[in-house]
Amino acid sequence: MARRASLEPRSRPPIAAGTVRPVALFDIRAFGDPVLRQRAAEITALDASLAQLAADMLDTMYDAPGVGLAAPQVGVQRRMFVYDINDGNGPNTVINPVLMGHEGEQTSEEGCLSVPGLSWPLTRYEKVHLTGVDLDGNELSIDAEGLLARCFQHEVDHLDGMLLLERLDKRDRKGAMKALRGRTLGFSDLAGESRARSVGHGS
Ligand SMILES: [Zn+2]
Repeated sequence: MARRASLEPRSRPPIAAGTVRPVALFDIRAFGDPVLRQRAAEITALDASLAQLAADMLDTMYDAPGVGLAAPQVGVQRRMFVYDINDGNGPNTVINPVLMGHEGEQTSEEGCLSVPGLSWPLTRYEKVHLTGVDLDGNELSIDAEGLLARCFQHEVDHLDGMLLLERLDKRDRKGAMKALRGRTLGFSDLAGESRARSVGHGS
């Protein structure tokens, strides 16, 4: 995800003295990039490169700003996402996430960092259960509701190659495609807006 229209832009958490490191930002892949349409591969080994990837994804997410970012959005075809919904429990990384169950429905405005500047009312499950592992290999088992549940559904969709556009009803999707076609014509503007500074990480 997940830029949420109603959410205040959030700022980077304070960095403790002595832990300053260079900020590395990815380019966020935008709608139309084929990498967003592919199913990402299961992660089979936890290593230092994965921790570095997560750290750089978090920098990119906070910079955007957004509340979630999936690896395919930075061109990496692996099943991993980072999130921080600004509830005091972030930042977090989930590897090989699986949605196990769901309950109820919620409808609210939802956007995506890969479809910058646009959002739509979207119906999702109100509650979901998510499993996966964290960067240390600890098993995760999370009951989520509200925004967190929405974030999980959005990010797992990314790992399955699905954008929120495909979840819109027929009328909203038609409007969305029209808006996006208009943007493609003025692509230089869109690129300038969505392309953050890039340090390292060509991918
Ligand atoms: Zn997204």
